[in-house]
Amino acid sequence: MGESRQKKTQTRRMVQFACGHTRMLDMLPTTSEQVKQTTLSLLERSYCAACHRLQRQAFALKLRDTFGLVPLTGSDALQNGLAEEVRIHLLEMLYPAHTAEVLPALLAVLNLHNDAAFWLEHRAVLWSTNKQQMATVLLDLLQSRED
Ligand SMILES: [Zn+2]
Repeated sequence: MGESRQKKTQTRRMVQFACGHTRMLDMLPTTSEQVKQTTLSLLERSYCAACHRLQRQAFALKLRDTFGLVPLTGSDALQNGLAEEVRIHLLEMLYPAHTAEVLPALLAVLNLHNDAAFWLEHRAVLWSTNKQQMATVLLDLLQSRED
């Protein structure tokens, strides 16, 4: 095995994402060169976190309009986008399990709350495939809240 004294272990790497944004990455010195290269090439084909978020939200808005859901209202644009994602996620999780006939009813239920705050409160469904959790959100939608 040829030893090269000049070959320093590089732990800092600049990565350029597919969206064009760049970021300095600090990698563990113990990580093998192969793992570093694999990680870098994966990241170079991905969007950065901010662009990925915008992309997901744009997709949620597109589906919202396709299905005729009312736009959510709230004071913070970024939070509204996240709320739209939560609602679309719920639709995506529930719709395939049912036939097209129930879609209008499902959409009507989802339209019961158009305040972003309601959906942000239920954001946990974004990371869940738990049917019980989906059912809880539907129940909350159907129950009118008395203040
Ligand atoms: Zn980006």
